[in-house]
Amino acid sequence: MVLVQYPRQLCRRHVDVRRYPRKRSSACSRGLERNLGFRGYSKSRRVFCAALEHDGINTQPLEVIIAGGGLGGLFTAICLLEKGFKVTVLERTAEYKPLGGPIQLASNGMGVVHAISDELAERIQSVSRPFWSTRSGIRDGLTSKWMFTFDAITEIPAADNLPFSLCIDRSDLQAALIDHLNSISPHNDVVRLDSGVSRYERSDEGVLVELEDGRTLSGDILIGADGIWSTVRSQLFNENCQSTQDKFAVASYTGFKLYSGLPQVELSEYFDIGYCAFIGPNHYFVVCPDRNGRVQWYAFVRTPPHTPNCEAPKETLREIFTEWAPEVKCLIEATSAGSIVQRDLLDRAPSITKSWADGRVTLLGDSCHATMPNIGQGTGLAFEDGYVLAHMLAAVQSRSDIPRTLQRFYRCRIIRTSIIQGLGRLNSEAIKFLTPLLPIRSVVDFFLSPLLPRIFFLQFKYCYSLCPIRVESHDSVRIAAMMNERHFAETLSAWAGSEDSSGPHKTQ
Ligand SMILES: Cc1cc2nc3c(=O)[nH]c(=O)nc-3n(C[C@H](O)[C@H](O)[C@H](O)COP(=O)(O)OP(=O)(O)OC[C@H]3O[C@@H](n4cnc5c(N)ncnc54)[C@H](O)[C@@H]3O)c2cc1C
Repeated sequence: MVLVQYPRQLCRRHVDVRRYPRKRSSACSRGLERNLGFRGYSKSRRVFCAALEHDGINTQPLEVIIAGGGLGGLFTAICLLEKGFKVTVLERTAEYKPLGGPIQLASNGMGVVHAISDELAERIQSVSRPFWSTRSGIRDGLTSKWMFTFDAITEIPAADNLPFSLCIDRSDLQAALIDHLNSISPHNDVVRLDSGVSRYERSDEGVLVELEDGRTLSGDILIGADGIWSTVRSQLFNENCQSTQDKFAVASYTGFKLYSGLPQVELSEYFDIGYCAFIGPNHYFVVCPDRNGRVQWYAFVRTPPHTPNCEAPKETLREIFTEWAPEVKCLIEATSAGSIVQRDLLDRAPSITKSWADGRVTLLGDSCHATMPNIGQGTGLAFEDGYVLAHMLAAVQSRSDIPRTLQRFYRCRIIRTSIIQGLGRLNSEAIKFLTPLLPIRSVVDFFLSPLLPRIFFLQFKYCYSLCPIRVESHDSVRIAAMMNERHFAETLSAWAGSEDSSGPHKTQ
């Protein structure tokens, strides 16, 4: 056993699944130690305690301010609290509202959750569904035939004893993180809502953060976890992201406008599919069954840059996808026009030439490595950032070490995050390359079918490679079965109680 032990108080209020027995291979831990870029990781709690004797850190624990209480900011706060830091999360929104549909929390993301807290992992499992033993992959957008499947989503966790990937609503994940934060912070005062950060000043002694309403707050470290249009990043990189024009200037437009919907639909394959991408001429359409009988869909529509959002998105989508598979058309029909969300899809190039750490300020998550959604890794990477940063800060022996430690954090994370950002972009470009070839489908099948599953296998293998815990696959089977049982029951009950008198839309 090489990893740090965390408190394991268990709260069973929220859970209907049992904990993973924790098995940690020393080989895994050594690999992680190398990934983290420092030694003595296994002793970090002891090193931290020794550090308390220096520099007054024992009488005054490091005070960390996190700008942004999204998924990355909240998870980082949990990691830092577990290490004994004083943490304040400043979140711009005045109230957390249910927003957005399901996201994939992949094996690496779940791995760091388990390494921080089994209780948090259970909270998350209790409101999600497993990808384990479901079918995911790419389908022909016109005929809906499967072209390639991503069997690696189950095969790699089974072979390497990793926690399996989950599908969870963004708001359920956010609620699980907030519940957990409240359970481990004595006064429930870590997250401050209605507290948008407008700027900061940094010195050798600390950081002074100014809020949009003029209030100020000081601390030892500022972490910018305020998303792709981060205010902290704008100041650190001297960028302006106020207008759409500015955004197009500092980020790269991927060539796609993204439309999305989350209707309740009785999809015939609802329980069998993890997620799938229908690819067809020019565009692609991603389908991901959610919970409670809902289905998330994303239409990636090739669109020239600076095209304004359309007034009647449902009509536009009907037209674009008129020749497509029945599943695609049914999902568009099942979605009310007013609920269709549209946005330009932008991502950022990896920050290879300029560090995202500066003195006592650093970035994490989307603020420094926003990643294309098609690789399903943005949240996992943000969680890894929080986990790695907390470990590194726990080894700080003196406040004067902070700037050096934040630079090490940048160096430790830049290669992995850049590779995964690159893979996300590559997938998107590959689809642009593949779709014009669909009319000669048999040639595609002959040349690419044997190759692509291997490429995807390597891609998943790399993404899942930072995972600090090991799980026996028979435990995964058992836990996935329990999660599925709950998922079936709540879905059937949601379909039965659909507000629409004719019941939810159905597909063949
Ligand atoms: C369509 C789509 C699908 C996706 N699917 C997946 C998926 O399947 N799997 C996956 O892992 N990832 C997915 N992602 C990516 C994932 O959502 C992000 O990578 C992840 O949410 C990043 O977390 P974050 O905390 O860095 O940023 P965010 O979640 O964006 O949080 C930023 C927070 O900062 C707050 N904020 C902003 N400015 C300020 C300010 N000045 N002061 C204070 N607070 C501020 C915001 O209100 C917000 O709460 C997807 C993204 C998109 C767009």
